[in-house]
Amino acid sequence: MAMDFLAPSKPEVKKTSGTTPWKILIVDDDPDVHDVTKIAVNGCSFEGRPFELLHALSVKEAREQLEEHKHVALALVDVVMENDTAGLGLVSWIRNDLGNRFTRVILRTGQPGYAPQADVIMKFDIDGYAEKAELSRTKLITAIVTALRGYKLVMSLESNRRKLETLNEQFSKLVDTNSLGEFSAEVVGFLSELAGRPVHCLVCGLEALPEAGAVGDTSLRVLAATGDFEDKVGVPVDLLKDDGLRNAISRCREEQAYICNGEEGLAMPLITRNGMVGAIYCDLPEAQLVELVGYELLKLFVSNVALGYQKTALLEHIHDLAYVDRVSGLSTYSGFLETFERQLGQDVPLMVVQSDIRRFRVIGDGIGDDKAAAVLKKTGHRLSQTFPDALSIARKEKDEFLILLKGGEGTCVQEVVTRVEEAFQEPISVDDTQITLRLRLGFSPAESSPAEPEQLVRYASIALNDVRQKGHTNHAVFHPMMQEAALERLRLASLLTGGGNKTEFSLHYQPIMRASDESISSFEALMRFHTPAGNQLNTARMIEAAEASGLISEIGAWMFKEAFAEFSHMSGVGEGVHLNVNLSPRQVQTNRIYKDIETAASAANLSLSRLVFEVTEGLFLGNDQTTLSLLTWLRENGAKIVIDDFGTGYSSLSYLRKLPVDGIKIDRSFIMNMDQDADALAVVKSMIAVAKALDLKITAEGVETPAQRKIMQELHCDYLQGYLYSKPLGSKDLQSFIQRSKGSGAAFG
Ligand code: C2E
Ligand code: CA
Ligand code: CA
Repeated sequence: MAMDFLAPSKPEVKKTSGTTPWKILIVDDDPDVHDVTKIAVNGCSFEGRPFELLHALSVKEAREQLEEHKHVALALVDVVMENDTAGLGLVSWIRNDLGNRFTRVILRTGQPGYAPQADVIMKFDIDGYAEKAELSRTKLITAIVTALRGYKLVMSLESNRRKLETLNEQFSKLVDTNSLGEFSAEVVGFLSELAGRPVHCLVCGLEALPEAGAVGDTSLRVLAATGDFEDKVGVPVDLLKDDGLRNAISRCREEQAYICNGEEGLAMPLITRNGMVGAIYCDLPEAQLVELVGYELLKLFVSNVALGYQKTALLEHIHDLAYVDRVSGLSTYSGFLETFERQLGQDVPLMVVQSDIRRFRVIGDGIGDDKAAAVLKKTGHRLSQTFPDALSIARKEKDEFLILLKGGEGTCVQEVVTRVEEAFQEPISVDDTQITLRLRLGFSPAESSPAEPEQLVRYASIALNDVRQKGHTNHAVFHPMMQEAALERLRLASLLTGGGNKTEFSLHYQPIMRASDESISSFEALMRFHTPAGNQLNTARMIEAAEASGLISEIGAWMFKEAFAEFSHMSGVGEGVHLNVNLSPRQVQTNRIYKDIETAASAANLSLSRLVFEVTEGLFLGNDQTTLSLLTWLRENGAKIVIDDFGTGYSSLSYLRKLPVDGIKIDRSFIMNMDQDADALAVVKSMIAVAKALDLKITAEGVETPAQRKIMQELHCDYLQGYLYSKPLGSKDLQSFIQRSKGSGAAFG
């Protein structure tokens, strides 16, 4: 019969398989006590968990057992073993040396009179004391069950304490996240930790934070998920395929309450003072979740997540304000620099491309601010599609974009240029307007260890400025020379505007003669800039600076007024004589130029048919409508258009046919060299041949010697201009030049 009792009650264990037994340690130097206890508790279980008996016949064995087994729920300890206090010594060891506060202890004694003092019972947290003789089976089991209940209680208190500790720790981690995605990912992981086992769950949140009650219709979207729900990240809740899941979350939102999805799971609302911000869903039924986590703790968890969610959403919003450009949806400049900083340690060569849109200001004037913003947005979108490999794409300001690319072998400038050109071949449509955009690109050199992100951006920006300056190409790579030129322009531009030291403007005129009879055909108005002290500044450079700084339109307006007035008052100049004025690319791309010319002409009572406008080849590059419209308008009003510095551009002669122009001015460099350089002469000849074929008038610039004059006359060039006849002259000197020419008998148109 004893055998029966000794046999472990296997069926019981099987029945409750998966549940851990209560470990009960019997410490007694009398083997019989072990057997009796075994028999007494055989087949017993508490709350569905069986008992597992551990045996120790001495204090030493007891210590070994306790060290080996973690969760001993109860120790039944004999008071008198090796000596009168061996049992108490063991309990003291358990509490003090082992540091175990949880295992319950019942003292047993064979001999009455060994009852411990009350203060010992307190100190060692002892649950019971009994004489072995008194412990009938029922009493023993009652004592054991009471002690187990106590053990369960202290353990649950302990686990709650631990969970609270985790909760605290985790929340301090959560507060550090500044994106909702990151936050939610932490939350889903955290729920498993609280439950003490993997829980499949998801967090969903509103697309926009509830602010001033405006949320009503923003939808919930899954922000993070674990386990079975992982594939649902990013999906709007309304589109979730699983009906039960979708309905539970929707109802949770509507009712702002915990909603069970049958036995499948539970949806818990995240509610803040401002209303509901999201929900957590897990695949455990409410009862089980509560059992695993604890009711109070679960509530605490959910409300803390809600608070954290709201805080993170706010942070994200603030972050977005700082790092997401509202116009283009791209990064802001700050965001760009930050990404850049993060890349610095990686030792990959980086390249910055700065880009802008040709004539964006004109486009903006034409279509209005709203549509211009839409153009920027679409440009940003197209850039993102074109450069999925970019580390960052940002809008810097106005129509300026920045692209951060991994440089080095793989990224060649030409490839980037081609990608942009191809991407913008298709026009951008805004409402019913189709706009073809031409982007200009400035490249920083790819540097493997740029000292400062701003430095590379500055290089790209200088390169872009160079492109704007030159007007005839759509991209440039930074070169230190550009920086010097840029500095110089800046210095000059400051001279143009600089307060008391303001530069003074005046005009000189250089005659252009008819090649046939050397009579005056025209005067070219040329700006002169001087300091208040009277020092003359280099015209070409000052014009460049005025272009770069945008002052050129202002100066141009002054020039038209001054030149037209002076010209119309020149005495001894017949109707056939013209006034040539230079137009720079930037001037041509503003709308004000029409008005500036008209106003100046009517103030001077000068017909536009007396004017010749000199423009450069670069102007025609983009084949852009603004330029063509202006030139067409000028010609319709009788003015003539000639291409200045002809031959220095890149374009083929054949394109001349298509342009609304009346003549060309062959660049000085050809004229200068043609008497020594056969190639230069050949080029001049072919330019003349083409121009003649197209019925264009030909002017030779920079004619300095009679030999040059002779060649040009023989080639039937129409007009000659250069120091051979006269340098550009102030109005007084010009009057005497006119008089002298008259005296020499030259004809006046
Ligand atoms: P440009 O239109 O090609 O003007 C001709 C330049 O060549 C003038 O320089 C003139 O002084 C110089 N030149 C004329 N004949 C000879 C010659 O026989 N030999 C030599 N070595 N040089 C000669 P300047 O006046 O310094 O003007 C430089 C540039 O500044 C002009 O080149 C023009 O592009 C620009 N510019 C001048 N005035 C204006 C203006 O009112 N508006 C605009 N947009 N540009 C202007
Ligand atoms: Ca004993
Ligand atoms: Ca000129």
